[in-house]
Amino acid sequence: QFHMIKYKDLKWEESLGQGSFTRIFKGSKTDVHDGEKHVTEVLLKELDVVHKNCWESFFEAASLMSQISHKHLLLVYGVSVHGVKNIMVQEFVKYGALDLYLKRGRSVSVSWKLDVAKQLASALNFLEEKNIVHGNICTKNLLLAREGDTSQGSSPFVKLSDPGVSVTMLGKDVILDRIPWVAPEVLEAPENLTMECDKWSFGATVWEIFNNGNAPLRGWDLKRKRQFYESFQQLPPSQWTELADLISQCMEYQSAFRPSCRSIIRQLNSLITSGNKAMMHCLFFVV
Ligand code: ATP
Ligand code: MG
Repeated sequence: QFHMIKYKDLKWEESLGQGSFTRIFKGSKTDVHDGEKHVTEVLLKELDVVHKNCWESFFEAASLMSQISHKHLLLVYGVSVHGVKNIMVQEFVKYGALDLYLKRGRSVSVSWKLDVAKQLASALNFLEEKNIVHGNICTKNLLLAREGDTSQGSSPFVKLSDPGVSVTMLGKDVILDRIPWVAPEVLEAPENLTMECDKWSFGATVWEIFNNGNAPLRGWDLKRKRQFYESFQQLPPSQWTELADLISQCMEYQSAFRPSCRSIIRQLNSLITSGNKAMMHCLFFVV
């Protein structure tokens, strides 16, 4: 089902912190092809030993990612098992998580952000066509492979990371903490996880991107977060009404009313066009 990588072929380097139930390291793996050694930079995700009962779900995420291939989906090379250690071996993405990148204060343009949103939408569209639910879309799980530079006309490039341990395995508090990325129907029952939930998460992610990686509802306690959904609230809308409209369509409490991926992409394209026009307008007045 998935590629097994020998533990001895892995080299561990610096720690990159922790995820939900995981510890993350930079490293490398060595393969031998026709007697020739190849060393590849990798990212090693080790499932916390205290959560080792989640290993099946963790490896399911690895298996999902290694079975599908799309330019905006992260490459998973395989998994490695060593004693109690369960490790996911994946592509190392140079600029890391997008939320951290944006929070570091790199100034990026509106068209840069729209570009990233469109790349995520194209990954989502691919998953929708294949009937695959991701289940953990957020800016933290978007990895930046290329920074891009608007002044030179080069675009950023992002890849959607693996979903990790399934939301159906998570405790209530972990799910509550994922408000507002997790769809409201999942809070009611994790079995309600469908492709429509990914659209809700997409909306929250776009909101986050346009707020420079600042998490929506940051610092709210779990009770307040729960009340947010119970009273059908929405995130503070963007000043840009067309963008606010797209986000609120995705973050529609009734899942059936959320837009199709095709409609999301169409709306993003029109935002890109109107964004460009608005920018030309500004330039015109500045000059
Ligand atoms: P979750 O399942 O909740 O997403 P996780 O185990 O994937 O949890 P994250 O919090 O998503 O952990 O990732 C932790 C950090 O590791 C990120 O902030 C990012 O900086 C780094 N990171 C994760 N994956 C990669 C990767 N493939 N390449 C480079 N850096 C990565
Ligand atoms: Mg992650």
